[in-house]
Parts: sequence; structure tokens; C-alpha cells
Amino acid sequence: MVNVHGTPKEVKDCHVADHTKKIKLSLWGDLIGQVAQGVSCVLTNLAVREWDRLYLTSTKETTIQVSEEEVQVPESVARLRLEVDQQEEVEEQEEEEVAQEEEVDQQEEEEVEQEEEVEQEGLTTVRGPVCGVKLADQRQCSSCHKGQLAFDRNAKNHRCEACGLLQRVGSYVQGANGTVEVNKGDVKLPLTLTSTVLMTYLSQNDLQELLADVQLLEEHFLEVGLFVIQYNANNEVVVVTTGNV
Ligand SMILES: [Zn+2]
Repeated sequence: MVNVHGTPKEVKDCHVADHTKKIKLSLWGDLIGQVAQGVSCVLTNLAVREWDRLYLTSTKETTIQVSEEEVQVPESVARLRLEVDQQEEVEEQEEEEVAQEEEVDQQEEEEVEQEEEVEQEGLTTVRGPVCGVKLADQRQCSSCHKGQLAFDRNAKNHRCEACGLLQRVGSYVQGANGTVEVNKGDVKLPLTLTSTVLMTYLSQNDLQELLADVQLLEEHFLEVGLFVIQYNANNEVVVVTTGNV
């Protein structure tokens, strides 16, 4: 039981795994009774949190459904459990701290919602059309989500350049990255567009199918018209949305 804004809330930690990795999941309230050990589930709308290391937590929108397909967890991933279990004791001590953190998180979330319109520190916003774009296919590690510089899609396996995990080529997530150029005053400003930011934009606008053809994707950026683009001091796009909404 954890106190959130004065209301007691039940939270329970468990671990979820697929064929690549295992991660801690904090389940809140009614969701706790909806899972069981060894049962494959489809979980939606989880949030990623970081406390010592990354973990998942359920949100108000989270749904849990028993999966029709059983998720296979290989020995190598299942064995990770041992290490994790040994750390469990430490984690339990930390859990109380996490619970307190959670409370702070939720308060912060509310504040963020209120401040959404306020300019974030270090970020610059440009509004206008994209006047030039150059994108290329890129694959992301399904485990650490890092983009891969050299990826041979005809190979059988690929070792992640960031986390070193050897995985099937097909388990890498397709994405694209590159540069978009916008007008800032009188100058043309090239901005780096990472695969993560681009994928967020595409999924928010239900445009994932554009990934099948990079040229179509590029043309999309020229044709949409007005964009609102936030970028950081390194000229990397942090958020891109269409300004037509
Ligand atoms: Zn990786």
C-alpha cells in the first residue's frame, strides 16, 4: 500500500519477459489480480520509469489481456531471473523509496501537464514548413532502442552496436532518421531527426506505413505544410508535430 495524494493505493512488483529481455513491472490497483505467473499477456499503455535502472509501471490507461500466443522466454533470459532475485532483497528495501518517488512522479506529471504550453528550458521552437529533408532507413535494437549504424538486412543475425545483444535481424525495429531543414529568420537551419522522435511522430499521426518507402516519407514532410518543431542546443529535434491541428 502506498499513499498517493492521501489515498491508499495498492502496488505490486512483478517481472515480465519476452524472447529478448526481462524487466520489472509495477502494477497498480485492480490490475494486480489480472496477471498470473507463467501466463502470457498483452499489456498496453505502460509507462517507462527509471529508478536505479529502467522499469515499467502501469498507468490509468493500461489494459491486460491474456495473449493467444504463448510468449517464449529462452533459458538465457529466464536465467536473468536468478540474478534479479538475488537483488530482490535490496530492491525491497528500495521499494519504499520507489513508492515515495512514485508520489513525486505523479505530482510532477500533473505539473508537466499544466506547463505543456510553456517553453521548456534549452529548447527552441520553430513553426513553419520543412523546406528540405533527407532521411534514410535505420533499424533500432528491440532491447535498448539504440539505432544501428551498420545493418545488413540480408544477414541472419545482428549484434546490437550499443548493448551487444545478438538478435535475429527481423527482431530489430524499422525506423528512419536524417535531417530536416527549416527556415529560421533568413537562414536555413538543418536539424537532426532521430529515429525515436520520428517514430513518435509517425505513430501519433498513424503514419507508420510511410516507413515502407523512405522517399514517400520525405515527401510527406514537404507536403504537410506547417510543422511545430522543438529542438535542443545540439540542433536535434526533440518534438515534431503538425501545426495544422
Ligand atoms: Zn541494443
